[in-house]
Amino acid sequence: MTHPLDLSVAEMAARVNDPGDDLTARTLVDEALRRIEVLDARVKAFLVVTPELAREQADAVDAKVAAGERAGPLAGVPLAVKDNLAVPGVPLTCGSKILGEYVPPTWATCVERAVAAGCCIVGKTNLDEFAMGSSTENSAFGPSRNPYDLERVPGGSSGGSAAAVASGMVPLAFGSDTGGSIRQPAALCGIVGIKPSYGRVSRNGLVAFASSLDQPGPFARSVDDAATLLKAMAGVDPLDATSYPFEHEVVDHGEAPASGEVLGDLRIGRVTEFGLQQEGADCAARDLVEATCTTLVEKGAEQHEIAMPVAAQGIPIYYLVAPAEASSNLARYDGVRYGHRTDDAGSLIEMYAKTRDEGFGAEVKRRILLGTFALSAGYADAYYKQAMASRAALRDAFRAAFETVDVIISATTPSPAFRLGEKVDDPLEMYLCDVLTVAANLSGVPAMSIPVGQDERGLPLGLQIWAPLGREDVMLAVAREMEQVAGCRYTPPALAAEVMS
Ligand code: GLN
Repeated sequence: MTHPLDLSVAEMAARVNDPGDDLTARTLVDEALRRIEVLDARVKAFLVVTPELAREQADAVDAKVAAGERAGPLAGVPLAVKDNLAVPGVPLTCGSKILGEYVPPTWATCVERAVAAGCCIVGKTNLDEFAMGSSTENSAFGPSRNPYDLERVPGGSSGGSAAAVASGMVPLAFGSDTGGSIRQPAALCGIVGIKPSYGRVSRNGLVAFASSLDQPGPFARSVDDAATLLKAMAGVDPLDATSYPFEHEVVDHGEAPASGEVLGDLRIGRVTEFGLQQEGADCAARDLVEATCTTLVEKGAEQHEIAMPVAAQGIPIYYLVAPAEASSNLARYDGVRYGHRTDDAGSLIEMYAKTRDEGFGAEVKRRILLGTFALSAGYADAYYKQAMASRAALRDAFRAAFETVDVIISATTPSPAFRLGEKVDDPLEMYLCDVLTVAANLSGVPAMSIPVGQDERGLPLGLQIWAPLGREDVMLAVAREMEQVAGCRYTPPALAAEVMS
């Protein structure tokens, strides 16, 4: 029999909200905590598990229901939170040593909203330090592992969250996506991950990496589950001036268009530059995406080839803009305001230098140096300003493309999960993991990854759906349809069988 923790989150919440049903939030949370206990010594998805907080939140949900109130659309659903989002009273590390024992006093808005919708937080998940990376190997606390093959990476930077969901420990998790950090691990772990439109979700309480690119977003095992969490977390927030009241709201399961209504006149764009013709690309991802598009065309969708030369510049643009913003954002970790401080310095300048040298890992230092250089006098015109001009061209190119198509479809990553250690010594190779994802952040549009199948080794691959700015409703409708008609669904890894019955 399916354990209630393996139902859809809508079903879980409906049962928890029903006073006549014996399923409680407490039961769901206890089961998630049990699964973490069984599996996480191997997967290492969590940096900290928060049983007391989870049980306290679950009991509050159950008490509400007992009092005859509804406890929200996510009542009792266990949630894992990437450790760059603030939960008051729970240590916040960002996968770094520099924050020391820092414990935030306030909520990240999106997490607070999920809890208000009934979610119960079972822990904080591992990530590349300050979300810089594509494998979680840049975490100061060691890497997480891919539940489909423990010798491989789960992707990154939100690898802990993706691994926690894919292994069946939790049905929902939060990640953040600056250049691909939700979509790439979702693809490598065979689950659904959404990078919302820039401004859809408040960034308040998300530790800033590159402020003009960062967006928090959901991981889940199905499109509907992800949509339900996105809907709960989205919306304007007075604490984030870049949050935006988009005209079209996120549509979740209850209001979705009926199957068959979507594909009839859908126009799908295929960007030539995202065709994975480049060296090193794996054909499995390309072939599975092709096959899925063929199915959609058979069901009535139209397919259009779009040439977008500037899309080939995504990586150089991103690796100037993101480090430039990071070098400013990370200036606040100076040993005075937060966390770690060296106790061995003769002067203030030496204190800053030693603190930052001890506290930051190699990749973060590399980004700070790259960003500071790109912004420095004499170089800013050649690097930063040129990158910003290309970024504007990229945004215009997407705007133009979406005048002729409703969505764009591509692979999410050039290849499936790689082995631990395989790319750590080659930063450029690691950066190329994001070749198909960074353009969504640079242009602001929403994009999501759904599972598209597995390669011959059983490693998952992802398909990416891109939509116009503010049109998560269209993106989710297409994703849902692919789940139905093209079998783009989560298949649990063998490891999950130990806990799922
Ligand atoms: N892998 C990319 C980077 O290292 C993207 C990270 C992210 O989206 N947070 O910057």
